[in-house]
Amino acid sequence: MTLDGHLQARLAAREAALLYRQRVTVESSNQVDQVAAGNPFVNFCSNDYLGLANHPQVKAAIKAAVDEAGFGSGASHLVSGHSLWHHKLELVLARLTQRPRALLFSTGYMANMALVTGLLENGQSVVGDKLNHASLVDAAQLACANKSKSSFLRYKHSDMADLERQLKKTSAGTLVLTDGVFSMDGDIAPLPALAALCRKYKSYLAVDDAHGFGCLGPNGAGSVLAAGLSVGDVPVYMGTLGKAVGGFGAFVAGSEALIETLIQFARPYIYTTALPPAVAAGNVASVALLRDEPSYRVRLQENITLFKAQAKHHLASLEGVKLLPSDTAIQPLILGAEKRVMQVAGHLLQAGYWVGSIRPPTVPVGTARLRITLSAKHTQQHIDGLWLALAEALKVTEYDR
Ligand code: PMP
Repeated sequence: MTLDGHLQARLAAREAALLYRQRVTVESSNQVDQVAAGNPFVNFCSNDYLGLANHPQVKAAIKAAVDEAGFGSGASHLVSGHSLWHHKLELVLARLTQRPRALLFSTGYMANMALVTGLLENGQSVVGDKLNHASLVDAAQLACANKSKSSFLRYKHSDMADLERQLKKTSAGTLVLTDGVFSMDGDIAPLPALAALCRKYKSYLAVDDAHGFGCLGPNGAGSVLAAGLSVGDVPVYMGTLGKAVGGFGAFVAGSEALIETLIQFARPYIYTTALPPAVAAGNVASVALLRDEPSYRVRLQENITLFKAQAKHHLASLEGVKLLPSDTAIQPLILGAEKRVMQVAGHLLQAGYWVGSIRPPTVPVGTARLRITLSAKHTQQHIDGLWLALAEALKVTEYDR
């Protein structure tokens, strides 16, 4: 069989399983109001939680940096790609997260790859929550495969008794990985309990706060500070810049020794081009806005409250539909079957609302869902309109599961 013949069979199987994924090209966007395929949509699947991706001050900072520094960084950080803009962003992130240092990465996926593969040594194991983001899972698998006597164990979602069972199987120095806010369920990890178990078993806790940084905690500093924990409890803190910050990139924050270790040993840091300086400049402007201006988080919280109140009202008379208990911007509506998720999402698109359709393998089989993400930029009208369309779509598809 030719390679294409082989691939076509593989793609056909994916399509038959209703798991085929398709991209949509966005033609114009302020993140909330978008045009795609010639039609206007209200976007309920972007991670621009605070609505900063189009902020005039952020755009001005990017333009000014482009005028000064041009486009690309031209090299990796350890060659000549590390500019004053990167340096400034690292300082701002370290100060906000109350850690001695921060280190920039080009994406969150790479930051997770870097922190797990860069920190793990022979004989050290990794234990992770079963619902951790794919990048933490991939990182743990890769790291453990390349070390001798290292194993990757997983514990039931946020289940501290199961975490303890797994920790008992490993020796001291285990790396414990968790999302701060779980990307598909929207719930917050039990960080104080995680930190206490890590202390008891002399393990090191790393938190991926992609969805918490900017949204939670004092000045948007994230879920770790929101839980009242410090660098001693959570020595490795990772955040991304493509979500609440509305930009691009990611960082790890922690001690001097942690950051120097990553610079020396983390291949996804060493062997890749640094972010464009203007991207760093945009991130600096955006982080300053979210740090100094609580109104973005207040607006987001108001929208979360409004969305959940509407859910109670609309879902009361519907069976087989469950909104997971989330207090964050990520609101998952579990429908179970992939087919129904695609049908409801299709109805919503026709009504002008774009929500995420999340299916296995991203989430466990039988828990296919609509993933609705809220932004400070949504208005009451947007949320009312979404719920009216959603209630209608759920009723229409109720008997066609
Ligand atoms: N961690 C989590 C929890 C995420 O949700 C994401 C993004 N989907 C990432 C890491 C990866 O971040 P990035 O998009 O910057 O690669």
